[in-house]
Amino acid sequence: MKRCVRCGRTKDQHEPETLTCPGSVKTTFASMELPDGRCCNDCSHVVRCCGIFGAKPGNTECDWFPIRFQLHPRFAAEVKA
Ligand SMILES: [Zn+2]
Repeated sequence: MKRCVRCGRTKDQHEPETLTCPGSVKTTFASMELPDGRCCNDCSHVVRCCGIFGAKPGNTECDWFPIRFQLHPRFAAEVKA
């Protein structure tokens, strides 16, 4: 279940249109999960994160916030297609 890193609630518990966090008008739903079907191994930063920060290539959540996921250039052709 994806939970908001700002308020800890699930996405469903946010305002339907704006995804504003309940009790706050300033923050909106935010998750550290990577895009569907992606893992750290698909990210340009995988070497640095796994080598220096101990992340695992199979992780589906970024250790950073806001997430720094950047699709590795090797997927460029796939994305355009
Ligand atoms: Zn929230």
